[in-house]
Amino acid sequence: MEKKQFQTESKKLLDMMINSIYTHKEIFLRELISNASDAIDKRYFRSLTEPESGLNRDEYEIFITADEDSRILTVSDNGCGMTADELENNLGTIAKSGSLDFKSENSADNVDIIGQFGVGFYSAFMVADKVTVVSKVYGADKAYKWESEGVEGYTLEECDKDSVGTVITLHIKPDSEEEDYCEFLEPYSIQRLVKKYSDYIHYPIRMDFEVTKPVEGKEGETEKTVERRTLNSITPLWKKQPSEVTEEEYQSFYSGKFYDYEKPVKVIHYRQEGTVEYTALLFIPSHAPFDYYSKNYEKGLQLYSSGVLIMDRCAEMLPDYFSFVKGLIDSSDISLNISRETLQQDHQLRTIAKAVEKKIKNELQKLLETDREKYESFFKAFGSQLKFGVYSDYGTHKELLQDLIMFTSSNDMKYTTLKEYADRMPESQKSIYYACGETAEKALRLPQAQAVISKGYEVLLLTEDVDEFTLQTMMNYNDKKFVNVSTDELDLATEEETKKLEEENKSGKELLDFIKESVGGLNSVRFSNTLGGHPAALSSEGGMSIEMARVLSKMPDAGEGLKASLVLEINSEHAITSKIRELFESDKDKCAKYCKLLYAQARLLSGLEIENAEEFSGLISELMI
Ligand code: ADP
Repeated sequence: MEKKQFQTESKKLLDMMINSIYTHKEIFLRELISNASDAIDKRYFRSLTEPESGLNRDEYEIFITADEDSRILTVSDNGCGMTADELENNLGTIAKSGSLDFKSENSADNVDIIGQFGVGFYSAFMVADKVTVVSKVYGADKAYKWESEGVEGYTLEECDKDSVGTVITLHIKPDSEEEDYCEFLEPYSIQRLVKKYSDYIHYPIRMDFEVTKPVEGKEGETEKTVERRTLNSITPLWKKQPSEVTEEEYQSFYSGKFYDYEKPVKVIHYRQEGTVEYTALLFIPSHAPFDYYSKNYEKGLQLYSSGVLIMDRCAEMLPDYFSFVKGLIDSSDISLNISRETLQQDHQLRTIAKAVEKKIKNELQKLLETDREKYESFFKAFGSQLKFGVYSDYGTHKELLQDLIMFTSSNDMKYTTLKEYADRMPESQKSIYYACGETAEKALRLPQAQAVISKGYEVLLLTEDVDEFTLQTMMNYNDKKFVNVSTDELDLATEEETKKLEEENKSGKELLDFIKESVGGLNSVRFSNTLGGHPAALSSEGGMSIEMARVLSKMPDAGEGLKASLVLEINSEHAITSKIRELFESDKDKCAKYCKLLYAQARLLSGLEIENAEEFSGLISELMI
């Protein structure tokens, strides 16, 4: 029969599985059972709208057989099954490209990838040298058989199967010196594996056990009989009292369901009584999934109605700023046949979603107050999302989120909350100061940031694109205005100093105009007394800061006109300024060149590129020769 080729990515993944040195090969069973359970879910869902395609709820099951002599293990389900096309598409081209990218970046060994993503169906090849999948969908006459012995390819042919569903047959590898595979054929170790990884699966996982029993009525005689046992406890974990659930149980539930094998930073499990009753089991992951900040990421919570899954990912249950939360809501108040269309109007659901949002916020707040280290690691992963939440919807969620966000403080280069900053502010400080830069260190080095610090004030160091937009949306915190140190809003000077500067600017107008003319592209040039030891710096005036213009101009639909109005501030006390004053009288040509150099320096300090590098290089060379 013709052998079909695996799609390249799949081949790579498959190859990794076959040659896996992963010590937890046993997880293959969890993966197959989880697929079987998903398939039953799918069939069950369909039966809600197409009644003829379903079974009674208690007829769904996953069935395992193991035969030590023939070394064959099977996992069967009466779920949705796969058509020939689906067999080909789902098993021939496994879409794990994200995980492969990840793997090539982290080329250690394949432990990472298994830990991070789960590996799905191909994990069967860690323990089997041949895998056969026979599957039939509802209403089809024929079933199809997919078979593969590894990377060389697979075959697909028509076959017979009576019932709807899928049977996966694994030809377990022979035992070798390094590796024993026979445990995967031994009923009691299979039972142990099911308990360990798949106990929460809400369909019965059954297997026949051969037991020796005394024969009734015949003293001393025994007989062998077959006993069908259900291996999993089925009762959903979330229905138990939180006090009865161990940390390991939460962890295994979480990793099994959400394919994240790192411990969540927080488990939130509670039951709400009252007008709407529900149980929530929520997890806050410790790291962002690889696709979190991409369009592919879908947020949502699972919805259960009295233990029955009715929606796998209900986006309406989570606001965008908490989109990282994983978990489920179970409520008898949610109707079994709720659909995506009726969801938004559903009053009960909206009430639950609001309550869940509040709970998440409170739990995060608690974490911040009780376990700073954990909170900071959480914030590193998801802080941008929270800041984006403040900024989105015109600041509607400001109150909710403002005490959860953090920025780097100039005091110790560590995270600080706005509340902590505000509590530390001296009486005399009028505003909350921030500086923007590619890194916190660069922001800290801005002349204007240094000037604020030398007054004894703290500066928030903003490094992410969203940061300044977040603060601009908030406008103030505790009635203290946010001020970007590189703008004309910086309000450090005393009345006296301001007056003195004004006079200086007035009397130096001719020189300042000359500088503006020579440099070009500037909105204005003025003397400043807040530059410390630096000769010059850039700032902006009007609403748009240098940083905001930089971020906005990167947007795909950025038009012209997204420019900050630049101001070149010149340190009136600096020796260079005296030099320029001198040249302005004696050698205008040279003076103009120096002004250009001064401007280039100021651009560099602000994290901007030099506009005309060739000219700049020429001017420097001239200076050096
Ligand atoms: P994942 O489950 O992460 O999508 P897998 O590699 O485990 O990836 O499986 C690929 C696809 O094959 C599944 O998404 C599903 O569509 C299909 N599949 C696997 N096992 C079964 C099964 N027992 N019944 C029906 N479909 C299945």
